[in-house]
Amino acid sequence: MRTEKLYIKGQWKDSAAGDYFDVLNPADGSLVGKMAAAGKEEVLEAIAAADQAFEEWSNLPAQVRSGYMKKWHKLLQEKEEIIARTLTAEQGKPLEEALGEVRSGTSYVEWYAEEAKRVYGETIPASSSPKRIMVLRQPVGVTAAITPWNFPASMVARKISPAIAAGCPVILKPEEKTPFSAVEIIKLAHEAGIPKGVIALLAGSAELIGDTLLEDRRVRKITFTGSTDVGKALMKQSADTVKCVSLELGGHAPYIVFDDADLDKAAEELMGVKIKNCGQTCVSANRLYVQESVEKELVQKLSEAFSKIKIGNGFDKDTQMGPLIDGDAYRKVQEHVEDALSKGAKLVTGGEGFHKGDHDQAGYYYKPTILVDVTADMKIMKEETFGPVLPIQRFTTEEEAIQLANNSRYGLASYVFTESLNRGIRVSEKLEFGIVGLNDGSPGTAQAPFGGFKESGLEREGGHFGIESFLEVKYVSISMK
Ligand code: ADP
Repeated sequence: MRTEKLYIKGQWKDSAAGDYFDVLNPADGSLVGKMAAAGKEEVLEAIAAADQAFEEWSNLPAQVRSGYMKKWHKLLQEKEEIIARTLTAEQGKPLEEALGEVRSGTSYVEWYAEEAKRVYGETIPASSSPKRIMVLRQPVGVTAAITPWNFPASMVARKISPAIAAGCPVILKPEEKTPFSAVEIIKLAHEAGIPKGVIALLAGSAELIGDTLLEDRRVRKITFTGSTDVGKALMKQSADTVKCVSLELGGHAPYIVFDDADLDKAAEELMGVKIKNCGQTCVSANRLYVQESVEKELVQKLSEAFSKIKIGNGFDKDTQMGPLIDGDAYRKVQEHVEDALSKGAKLVTGGEGFHKGDHDQAGYYYKPTILVDVTADMKIMKEETFGPVLPIQRFTTEEEAIQLANNSRYGLASYVFTESLNRGIRVSEKLEFGIVGLNDGSPGTAQAPFGGFKESGLEREGGHFGIESFLEVKYVSISMK
């Protein structure tokens, strides 16, 4: 059993109040370890250390910051197995998938180690001859990063790396259920020699840590991944000190399959995006819209594939899908399925789960489930289910598919399957989503912008877009003699 500490001012520290909380394995409720909880004083200490580190870190040549990040990247590659095992233990996903997540996070560290060197300013032609217009890009300052439990490793790397590349110190608060992946990643940042104060890790009460970070004027930016409700609350709290805000919130991704699609590919890509992480992702295919003439064939293919998925402990070699994160998640999935069935949906496969062990918040599994004859008024077509359930609704025309897909308060990911180039481009342009996977079920990658329209968020992570949200624009107007 492990006990992990807080990381403040370059040191691993016990909780000052002697406060520790349990981290459970969602596969069976066994205790993975205990994590130190931060009190208000520790949050203030981390803010002061970050504030102090800001000047020196941001004034280092980008090449030097990049050098630290490259060392960190190398260590992350060397220790990927350790991080992946930690991730499976506290989060439940199959080990292979955990390894994939760690590699994805690591690729962001590499990308931003390079991108640190490409923060360019501009000169703009002035309107009169003695004048010069110079535009600088400078780091926004101390950043608070709040991450969720569904990707507890990659989100940490994805948030910290553009921030420190830009020159911003980061105070990280991982989700209480999954702090140990973050601990492993930060241990390697420490080993890479990233100077004290540049990164801090605080776990514990989300409200206490969140409120303290958001009230503080020295914290200039918040970057958050999590639910839309919490994101909205953080945005409101940020208003008092007018912090910069990046939000990556919920999604309700439509997956549209036209009659001219490659159905085998559409089915295969869907398995990846639906079964991954037991459906607990913000880009999961939440609603499948299929053109009526190919519905039967597609449902048949998916039903065969869904019923073969091996569910179990993420450490078992043949497991393809792990447990849900906890009992609340399980009950939400159940509620959505029951609501759909009560309103006329029909069950094709799945529709039930099981419980292992005797912990009332862990050991919950749900079978991959397909529902057909689904309609827009069902909860499952409007709210995030965050589980391995696929509701299927048929459509007739392209216009109808676009209208159904866009009928959501969310706008993160969407997917379109068609072999027609014209239709693919036409539909991609009309979808009100930050990401469109055109014949592609896994568009996420370090060099591309990830983020949502509407209530799915603000700003983008990944690519040059990702570092821009950690930079202020400064205009220097020069009048020459
Ligand atoms: P999820 O539905 O993925 O659990 P949440 O929005 O509840 O999403 O959590 C995402 C992150 O936000 C977690 O790290 C959680 O601890 C944190 N969080 C939740 N409530 C607050 C809050 N009031 N202030 C700051 N952080 C919060």
